[in-house]
Amino acid sequence: MTQAIDAKSSANSLVVEMAKAMPLPLIVIGNDERVVVANQRAEELFGKGTHGRHYITVLRQPMLLDAIENVLRLGGEANATYRVSESARDRHFDVKIRAALTKDVGYVVVAFEDKTELQEAGQMRRDFVANVSHELRTPLTAVLGFIETLLGPAANDSAARARFLTIMDNEAKRMNRIVGDLLSLSRVEADRRVRPRDAVNIPSVVRSVVQTLQPLADARSVKLRLEGDDADDMVQGDQDQLTQVFTNLVENAIKYGPVNGEVSICITSHAVEPTMRGPAVRVDVADQGEGIPAHHIPRLTERFYRVDAHRSREMGGTGLGLAIVKHILTRHRGRLRIESHAGNGSCFSVILPYE
Ligand code: ADP
Repeated sequence: MTQAIDAKSSANSLVVEMAKAMPLPLIVIGNDERVVVANQRAEELFGKGTHGRHYITVLRQPMLLDAIENVLRLGGEANATYRVSESARDRHFDVKIRAALTKDVGYVVVAFEDKTELQEAGQMRRDFVANVSHELRTPLTAVLGFIETLLGPAANDSAARARFLTIMDNEAKRMNRIVGDLLSLSRVEADRRVRPRDAVNIPSVVRSVVQTLQPLADARSVKLRLEGDDADDMVQGDQDQLTQVFTNLVENAIKYGPVNGEVSICITSHAVEPTMRGPAVRVDVADQGEGIPAHHIPRLTERFYRVDAHRSREMGGTGLGLAIVKHILTRHRGRLRIESHAGNGSCFSVILPYE
């Protein structure tokens, strides 16, 4: 009898030490259906003081309890899931339940594998596909509708034909822009771990962007004011991608600023830039638009996120420009800062480290 108790307690202490060493939440249940050990990761999930308690009072979810009961009764193995809501986030675990038998004592080992990030990534992918389909469907439906009208009731109406073809042209161009931006985004994502290697002269890139966008600014009678482009601020980067960053930001400032307004683009060089805590070049693109309410700002770089979807579409926007900017800057170890006060314009700042 004493021998059996000794064997059990030495088996238990081995089990406790092994459970503690496991890098995932783990609970071991004895034949008496009580918790032998819950390691520290499991205590974070179920709280302290589980030792010696009946497993039903610790693990309360019926599907999981059924699976454990089966393994306790019949041995072998079972799988289950465990879900828990934590502040703003739901966490999902795959649970593996296995019977373990030493010479003298039987245990059931319950291990929790955190699948939260995988589930979230899956959800994001599904949302993204749904968003893309929705964005493309709207112009496509318009084009199909006009084709039908042109083939039917408006077949011999030349004035209507010209008007409808103009609309169809606009809608087809919109689809083309969306597809173009999606391809850019996927190219940037594919390269995200590859450090860019060109030596890029930031003032010269910004100057060429300003030149390219001058006609767009003229069309809205917007003045483009460029400052600080006289030094040669070189960074290691990808010239085409950085051109795209500044194009998207200056284009937005022109689009969302007022007609007859001004967009200022200011380049400054910093020995110690506070955000980067090191040497960096900073480009501020400021407009005189209506500004962006604070609660929208953290979400602007999400794909298809728009403050005013109608206005964005009217201006030919795809809702992907700032997502592209963010991904390119991440690849360059740079940052995007957005400051805006309702009624007071917005300032989008790009900060790129020199090395
Ligand atoms: P879009 O193609 O719609 O312009 P972006 O990703 O470039 O997409 O921008 C996302 C949203 O951020 C825009 O729809 C707009 O609501 C807002 N936004 C971007 N730039 C500005 C700006 N300079 N002023 C006000 N709002 C802006």
